[in-house]
Amino acid sequence: MGICFWAPGAPQEIEEFECVCEGQTVACPYCKGTGTEKIPFSKGEIAVNNHNGRLILKWFGLQSDPGQGLVGQVEKSDLPSLHAKLFALQSDETQKLLTAHRIWGGWGEGLQSYLDRMLSLVAIAIAHDSTLCWA
Ligand SMILES: [Zn+2]
Repeated sequence: MGICFWAPGAPQEIEEFECVCEGQTVACPYCKGTGTEKIPFSKGEIAVNNHNGRLILKWFGLQSDPGQGLVGQVEKSDLPSLHAKLFALQSDETQKLLTAHRIWGGWGEGLQSYLDRMLSLVAIAIAHDSTLCWA
């Protein structure tokens, strides 16, 4: 199980994969015989495992819908303050290490990458007048 963060209003892009059937059959449900499976994804989408997803939510102070498990969203009107918060974290090395240490028990390149990607996802959501969701 994993958790995905994305901006539903951001443009969809198509990622192409070589199909397992190698284009041998037109009845293939994945590629319909083209040999290429096309999977849409949202720009800036972040997929992580549940464990890291929970820690990310905690780190950035995001609240899931009560009783819904790891499902939630940030309304458009709340995105600028989330962006400001992440940006402040990004540019304040002490605060960044401190908060990450509190949540993750350490600091690593992976965490910098989560912060970078989440900041860029929030910016994408704002640019496309979208909410930010996770599920
Ligand atoms: Zn196929």
